[in-house]
Amino acid sequence: MKDTLQKFLVDNAPVRGELVEISDTWRHVQERRAYPPAVRTLLGEMLAAAALLSANLKFNGMIVMQIHGDGPVKLLVVECDSELQLRATAKLAEDTLIADDATLTDLVNASGNGRFVITLDPKDKLPGQQAYQGVVPLDGESVATVIENYMLRSEQLDTKLWLAADANVSRGLLLQKLPTIGGTAAPTAKPEGELETWNHMVMLGDTLKREELLSTDIATLMHRLFWEQDVRVFDPVHPQFHCSCSREKVGNMLKMLGQEEVADALSQTDKLAIDCDFCGQHYEFDAVDCAQLFVAEVGGASEAGEVRH
Ligand SMILES: [Zn+2]
Repeated sequence: MKDTLQKFLVDNAPVRGELVEISDTWRHVQERRAYPPAVRTLLGEMLAAAALLSANLKFNGMIVMQIHGDGPVKLLVVECDSELQLRATAKLAEDTLIADDATLTDLVNASGNGRFVITLDPKDKLPGQQAYQGVVPLDGESVATVIENYMLRSEQLDTKLWLAADANVSRGLLLQKLPTIGGTAAPTAKPEGELETWNHMVMLGDTLKREELLSTDIATLMHRLFWEQDVRVFDPVHPQFHCSCSREKVGNMLKMLGQEEVADALSQTDKLAIDCDFCGQHYEFDAVDCAQLFVAEVGGASEAGEVRH
């Protein structure tokens, strides 16, 4: 079955929501390496969250979620573009043992120096336009709480998230209270009924146990949770795994390292081998390939600066 993201809208109340289930994409992410269960849960939850946010923000570009950890997990990265193409990876500290019940704080914020960074990188940038980057405090015991706080602060949107992941599936529910059109976003300004609907739906979401979220498909969840509400359901969309790595991008990375560093690395081996962290694609650059990287650059400069006879 395809990975699926299902958007819905509540009639008669400014509440919208999304349910997502990701298993095929999640399997691709995990093909590369076996993560300790606690890390797997965290990365899987970020995967669902990235898909939910990407569909929610209606933003044409790439959402990059990164946690730079100060504990046994050094880095977690999840990327999602507007077509819901996802890739994800995690880097662990060497020689580290991670308990199955390690918390978010244990994993990435042991000394309080962990950083959660959300980047919105527009696809077609206008001249001078840059990616928007928000550093989000890791103030919560779950990815869901951290993102809820981010959405409230940066988008002024009351958002609730329920996320769960195991080896087979990553599933999530998002509910969002929309600002009333033409009105204010202050909860006191809302008619009683609308606020009641929102609170009721959040309460229904809160009944979701992790096990239930992991073991129930989203069509069943939708019915079980919201059968009493007048919910309008949109056509489902399908997240999928996609890695944007290429030989050209790896070449650019080598160029950024500089000629000296590359020459140094080449003096110890006859070719540089680089594996993509996201998809495992293997790239090789021998001495000739590397020389070409730097020759091309010099050639470009000479064309602009010299008159040839
Ligand atoms: Zn790749």
